[in-house]
Amino acid sequence: MFDSLSERLGSIFERLRGRGALEEKDVAEALREVRVALLEADVALPVAKDFIARVKERAIGQEVLRSVAPGQQVVKIVHDALVETLGGAGQDAALDLAMAPPAPILMVGLQGSGKTTTTAKLALRLEKREKKRVLMASLDVRRPAAQEQLRILGEQAGVKTLPVVAGQTPLDIARRALEAARLSGFDVVLLDTAGRLSIDEQLMAEVADIHALARPIETLLVVDALTGQDAVNTAEKFKARLPVTGVILTRMDGDARGGAALSMRAVTGAPVKFVGVGEKLDALDAFDAKRMAGRILGMGDIVSLVEKAAEDLDLEKARRQAKKLAKGAFDLDDLAEQFRQMRKMGGMGAILGLMPGMGKMKKMVDAAGGFDDREIKRQEAIISSMTKAERRKPAILNARRKIRIAKGSGTSVQEVNKLLKAHRQMADMMKKMGKGGMKGLAGQMMG
Ligand code: GDP
Repeated sequence: MFDSLSERLGSIFERLRGRGALEEKDVAEALREVRVALLEADVALPVAKDFIARVKERAIGQEVLRSVAPGQQVVKIVHDALVETLGGAGQDAALDLAMAPPAPILMVGLQGSGKTTTTAKLALRLEKREKKRVLMASLDVRRPAAQEQLRILGEQAGVKTLPVVAGQTPLDIARRALEAARLSGFDVVLLDTAGRLSIDEQLMAEVADIHALARPIETLLVVDALTGQDAVNTAEKFKARLPVTGVILTRMDGDARGGAALSMRAVTGAPVKFVGVGEKLDALDAFDAKRMAGRILGMGDIVSLVEKAAEDLDLEKARRQAKKLAKGAFDLDDLAEQFRQMRKMGGMGAILGLMPGMGKMKKMVDAAGGFDDREIKRQEAIISSMTKAERRKPAILNARRKIRIAKGSGTSVQEVNKLLKAHRQMADMMKKMGKGGMKGLAGQMMG
């Protein structure tokens, strides 16, 4: 997600970080590039302008130029401004369901945005996490299969849907859904409205009528993040007609650029509450501004990395390792050490997300099946089943040795091979990054 924006910003900050002391024109130049990067990532112009102005004001106000680590401080300011633009830290995605049940939630959006799927995802989430009894109803009488689609999704999710009655208008269905929910003691009624390929007056009038009837406690707009600026325009139009209380961005698992997420809050005033991250019914995440800012920057939260590193890492060891890495010598002992530190610092995903320029590496790791903590422990077991010589020189690992290692670690030869392959790729990568990436990182860690 967000590759282009994060990569561009990454290289801008890489350069900023390289400087000992910054001059005002360095900051100005970097911010100009940040602006271009934002615009290219489909961030709305006024949002980008406002964002840059805010960063600039703070950078100057905080006398960044004279501080010890000016580059880092600019990065932190940009990060914090991103979090604010995205909707602020600590603002949770909790839906406001505090009303006498049943609480109606209206789902609106264009056709193809993922609205129906998202309705089912949300229903599942409310049932599972918030222990709400949810009834779903499709008010889409235009697309013949729409009501049937929701029924099938409901079956998959184990969520009740309102039985379909032929010939009813959307308003009839809404009324029936609310009544049924009241009688049967449901906590929440999710009303999935009809979409259109584009916004037209008829659609808006229909949705507005339903809104007036159902008086929903939440009106959630579903938009496709892949459509970038169009998603923002769509949101603006819906917002002009309806009191949208929250936005759900779908297809964030694709290579959506950061623009939509960044502009949405600023342009519509409505917070992004959830993000869709896949086709499966559990692929709906609460929106987290801090995490999103970290991903947009592609370098994570530099500040917390530095802090964490100082707390958790054995600095002397890290220094020695960084030297070795920069030379391109990276053996399995080093990998084991990395695993140990990664577990300490909250897992592979967390650490890669925190490291500057590590977006690519993370992608590689993910492609290799990803690492969770349990996975890391298995990898460590494989390495510790090797002899010293094998760890130093993995090339000597023949089939016989691999079988021994697999047995010793309770894994399989395939897993041993997978680890070796991942190690080779990492070693290559580190050699390539050579003096740049890792040494930069080591420099960061050691302040
Ligand atoms: P609607 O016309 O707005 O109701 O859209 P649908 O709910 O029918 O979704 C259209 C397609 O988008 C379906 O194939 C969904 O599985 C897919 N979809 C919805 N949300 C996501 C998402 O977050 N990620 C991905 N990859 N696909 C999604």
